[in-house]
Amino acid sequence: MIGASGYVLDGEQAALQETNDHFLANLQKNGSYSVVPRIPGGEVTPEGLIVIGEIARDFGLYTKITGGQRIDMFGARVEQLPLIWTRLVDAGFESGHAYGKSLRTVKSCVGQTWCRYGVQDSVRMAIDLELRYRGLRSPHKLKSAVSGCARECAEAQSKDFGVIATSHGWNLYVGGNGGATPRHADLLAQDLTDAELIRLIDRFLMFYIRTADRLERTSTWLERIPGGLDHVREVVVEDSLGICEELESLMAAHVAHYADEWATTINDPEKLARFVSFVNAPDTPDPVVGFVPERDQIKPDLPLLSIGHRPLEGSAQR
Ligand code: SF4
Repeated sequence: MIGASGYVLDGEQAALQETNDHFLANLQKNGSYSVVPRIPGGEVTPEGLIVIGEIARDFGLYTKITGGQRIDMFGARVEQLPLIWTRLVDAGFESGHAYGKSLRTVKSCVGQTWCRYGVQDSVRMAIDLELRYRGLRSPHKLKSAVSGCARECAEAQSKDFGVIATSHGWNLYVGGNGGATPRHADLLAQDLTDAELIRLIDRFLMFYIRTADRLERTSTWLERIPGGLDHVREVVVEDSLGICEELESLMAAHVAHYADEWATTINDPEKLARFVSFVNAPDTPDPVVGFVPERDQIKPDLPLLSIGHRPLEGSAQR
């Protein structure tokens, strides 16, 4: 069930997942996988950066900063994923769900703490939101951002739910999207307190999860449903259907039952058994997963995928 908590590959949830979810990583064009630890709000300590750097160096992974303010490590063979994640989990990192139809990141600017123009602490709010909604399965991926003032450096109006600080609190925008069909988000409510903001996002996300079609982003859902933004505002702000208490309790259950999928996986031999290239030869790495050097790192070696050959299906990530 979308929105349900629990291990993503258990029970009926397993049948809904794509190839990426089956290995809790993003499949890349040469059959290798990428690894994205969560970095809430884009805030990371020097020690955290060193751990990521050491892991990437030790496993020979290609590293790149993503558009969602985190670090992607490419080129992992499937059997290396548990080894990499054991080190990440030991250092306090958890799944970034770059592979899932779930919350990706809550981007933030530095906000009031460092910026001369900031009127609220956008980093703290982004971290609070990312930790609250991490692991929430939804009809499609969810992106968010928090800007510390109207200058909008975090680009919150291009997100599924975006927050912009005001001198009185927070403005909440919904239904924004970048990508192939960009859409500016709509203002849902303004000058909210912290508690009002979180309550409204809880309701909005659960209403979307419960009523959107599979693979329907918030932007298309908002334009498709009868009454559009006005209807959503009536339901989640004014409680016109009398369902807000239920929506809030569904989100509270998600928050209470969240567990990191990778920590769960590396502590369960049965779940680990799937991380092999060949079921009948679990110690044998896939020989077709190769790499060549480029700009002091690696890139996929694709002799069979040159001009005219259709690449294997990849996955948009960030
Ligand atoms: S959005 Fe405002 S507070 Fe945030 S970095 Fe930009 S100018 Fe500063």
